[in-house]
Amino acid sequence: MHKSFELGIKLFVFTKFNIFQVANSKCMKAYFKLLLFPVVLFFCSCKNAEPIAEKSGYQGQGPTPVVSTTTRPVQKQWKGIWPLNDSTVFFSNQFDGARLNGVVHDGKNHYTLWFTAENTPVNPSPWYGFKIWSTMSQEVVLKFTYQDSRSRYYPKISRDGQHFKVLDSSRFKPINPGEGQFGLKAAPEFAEITVPIDEQPTWITAQELYTSERVKEWVDSLSLQSFVRSYPIGESREKRPINLMEINGGDSKKALIILTFQHPPEVTGFLAMKSFMETLVGESEQAKAFRGKFTIFNVPLMNPDGVDNGHWRHNFGGIDLNRDWADFNQPETQSVRDFLQQKKKEGYEFVFGADFHSTWDDIYYPLDTTVTGSKGQIVFDWIERIEDRLPQKKANVSASKKLYPTMTSRNHFFAAYQMPSIVFELGDNTPRSFVKEKGRVAAEELMQLLME
Ligand SMILES: [Zn+2]
Repeated sequence: MHKSFELGIKLFVFTKFNIFQVANSKCMKAYFKLLLFPVVLFFCSCKNAEPIAEKSGYQGQGPTPVVSTTTRPVQKQWKGIWPLNDSTVFFSNQFDGARLNGVVHDGKNHYTLWFTAENTPVNPSPWYGFKIWSTMSQEVVLKFTYQDSRSRYYPKISRDGQHFKVLDSSRFKPINPGEGQFGLKAAPEFAEITVPIDEQPTWITAQELYTSERVKEWVDSLSLQSFVRSYPIGESREKRPINLMEINGGDSKKALIILTFQHPPEVTGFLAMKSFMETLVGESEQAKAFRGKFTIFNVPLMNPDGVDNGHWRHNFGGIDLNRDWADFNQPETQSVRDFLQQKKKEGYEFVFGADFHSTWDDIYYPLDTTVTGSKGQIVFDWIERIEDRLPQKKANVSASKKLYPTMTSRNHFFAAYQMPSIVFELGDNTPRSFVKEKGRVAAEELMQLLME
């Protein structure tokens, strides 16, 4: 609790710092506009019934282009230890979730690191993760460079690989800062960080580390409850299990399907889903009643190969899994498709589907009611209730009017099962305490709506 709060505050400070950088690089006038922005928002909200969030903030990505999901080769990362500077400083990528593709000593205490994608073309989500240690205590300067990308993720630091903190902003230097507020263009081209190192390893990663082992530990901790079961529904290309958690407090055939981690770096989406699921499994009267009336199916780690190999986006078939829900060329999407078909045969009716992701800022991607009709209205009611309860950080809604081809899980869920469904996105830098709160509020409001 305390740790996540601290992380939240630091992320908040970092966000402000970023805004200052942008303002500084433009002109003071722009900076004062930014300072006035919350005041203007407050006054506008008094007389304007339209949600303010629609006029600012991250507007979302454009329509998804149709792409092939036929398996493509992936460059497996070389794993090992780099002994540098006469074997006094060591870098390692020998752990799950690591990504470091090269490092050179530039002289004195300066090192340049190189991070590449599993294959290309790929989304600009340049994941990295490595360990560093030294024969003597010292400070080193590390320059992060990326294959056809920019410095999207702000570094997280750990001494045990489990508990991470945001790097102090005084130790972070953006090189060739970006332009604008969102997207890759807004990110600096490179980043240079200064870190103290000693004989004990220090982990440096793009986001907090949630490997398949750690996700399994979380699932196992919930599975201690009598109404929670966990079992594999398939296997990835590298033979990791695709685990499903089933929450069933009665014998209800009304069911929900909840997914996360189709895309490896999307840790904030996972954290929101974690809080969402913990609320459904929780002790509240509402949760107990809900579990008697609904069965919840959850696949918390859709892409275990991608996560453990430190991929930027794809599975080990070199494919963006959230483009494979029309052709089903990949084993991960096939397992969920087959599982849902089997459950339908057993008489289950799917009433809600959510797929948690991360992007530049919090945003909702539902299907438009011109596609879903009155059946899809519940998704919009849900969003409205969540937003009403969380006025401190508003998120935009970007509804899709296109159902076919059903490349995404959301579209497949509706096309195959007429299930109201959504892509629920959290920002990369959204404070972790808020991510947790949003997951809890989202669960409470969904239970309320489905029970009405
Ligand atoms: Zn995603």
